[in-house]
Amino acid sequence: MQKSLSERDKAVIWHPYTQMQTAPAPIGIVRGEGALLFDENGNSYLDATSSWWVNIHGHAHPYITEKIAEQAAKLHHVIFAGYTHEPAVELAEKLLPVLPGSQQKLFYSDNGSTAVEVALKMTIQYWQNKGQVKTRILAFRNAYHGDTFGAMSVSARSVFTRAFDEYLFDVTFLDVPAPDNLEALKAAIDTHASDTAAFIFEPLVQGSGGMVMYDTACFDALLQHCRAHGILLIADEVMTGFGRTGTNFAMEQVQTPPDMITLSKGLTGGTIAMGVTTCTNEIYHAFLSTDKLKTLFHGHSYTANPLTCAIALASLELFLQPACRQERERINARHRAFAVELAYHPDVKNVRSLGTILAFEIVTGEADSYTNDLAGFLFKFFREKRVMLRPLGNTLYILPPYCITDEQLTEVYDSIYEMLAKYQEQWS
Ligand SMILES: *Cc1c(COP(=O)(O)O)cnc(C)c1O
Repeated sequence: MQKSLSERDKAVIWHPYTQMQTAPAPIGIVRGEGALLFDENGNSYLDATSSWWVNIHGHAHPYITEKIAEQAAKLHHVIFAGYTHEPAVELAEKLLPVLPGSQQKLFYSDNGSTAVEVALKMTIQYWQNKGQVKTRILAFRNAYHGDTFGAMSVSARSVFTRAFDEYLFDVTFLDVPAPDNLEALKAAIDTHASDTAAFIFEPLVQGSGGMVMYDTACFDALLQHCRAHGILLIADEVMTGFGRTGTNFAMEQVQTPPDMITLSKGLTGGTIAMGVTTCTNEIYHAFLSTDKLKTLFHGHSYTANPLTCAIALASLELFLQPACRQERERINARHRAFAVELAYHPDVKNVRSLGTILAFEIVTGEADSYTNDLAGFLFKFFREKRVMLRPLGNTLYILPPYCITDEQLTEVYDSIYEMLAKYQEQWS
C-alpha cells in the first residue's frame, strides 16, 4: 500500500517550532484556492491565519500564477552584484513611492529575519562610517523580529531563545508606550541617547508577542523623542505591512517617518520568501566612498531573484487596486462587530481588532499557558473543525487572507463560539 504524505514526512522531515516526539502527524496539503487549502483526502481547511500571516490575495491566485509563468519563460536567476534585471528595478520603482517616510533605496534579501539583519547592519555601520560611536540598540520588550542571531538579539528573551541567550548581543528593552509610562520611557531614552544607534519596533501591533496592540499617539510621541535625539528609526513592517492594520503600512498612522523599513510576509502575497530593507538617502549616502571599508558587505546567493520579484510585483499590483482596499474594509467592519459581541463572553478578555487582525485572550487559571493543556485543546479542536487557527499561548487571533468571503468569516467566528462552549464544558 502506498504511504501517506504524513507517514513519509515522519521519516525524513524536521518541522519548525515543533517538538517532533509529541507532535501529531502533519496534515498533507496538496492544493490551495482562495482562503481554502485541501489535504490529500480531499478535505478542505479554512486558512484563517494566512499561512503564518503571509497570504493576502488567497492561495494559487491565477494572476500571480500567470506572472510566474511569464517570468519563468524569460529568466530564473542571475547574480545580483554587477548585474541587474527588470523585475528587481521595477519592483523598487513601484514599492518605494508607496512606503511611508521618504524611502529612497531598497536592499533585497531572503526573508523577514534577513531583512532585519540588513537593517541592523546598515544602522551599526552607518554610525561607524560617519565616525561616531553609537552602539546601543533599543527595542520593545516582548518584541519579535525573527529567528537569526541578530534578529533574535533584538527580540524578547523567551523560551524560544533560552538555549541561545548567552550568544545574543545586549539590547536596551523598553515597554510599549501608554499614557502612564510615556514620560518614564522618554527619560530612559534621554539617559542612553548619546550612544544609541537605532530603535527597532513593530509599529502598532506586536505580532508574535501575542497580537499586542498599543497606543498610537504615545507611540508617535516616543518616535518623535527618539528622532529629536538623532536615533535611527527602523520600522519592522514584516507583519504589519501590506494592509494588515487598516492602512497600507502601519507607519502611515503616525506623523514621525521611519528611516528604514523591513518588509517580507505579505510582500509576495504568500507565494515565496523574500525580504526587503528600505532606507532614506541620508543612510545610503553614508556608505558612498572611495574607501572600500565603507561598503555594506552583505548579500545572499538568491538576492533579488527575478521570479520572486515578478511575484512581488504582481502581488503589489493586486494590493493597490481599490477592490483590495474594499475587501480589507469589509473584514475590518466584520471584525469590529464580532469584537463587540465576543467581549460579552465570560471566558474571553481583552478583545481587540485593528484592520484585518482580531485577537483576544482566553481566560485561564494557569500561568505558563504555552505549556499547559489549553494549546493542545485548541489545536485539536480547530484541526477537527478544519479551521486553521494557531494560538499564541492563550491568545487566539484571526488574520485572514483578504479574499476570505463573508460566509467563511462567519464560519471562523462560529467555530470560536463552538470552541468556547466546549472549553466551558471541559474546563469549568
Ligand atoms: C515573522 C516576522 C519576522 C521574521 O520573518 P521570517 O520571514 O519568518 O524570517 C520579523 N519581524 C516580524 C515583525 C515578523 O512578524
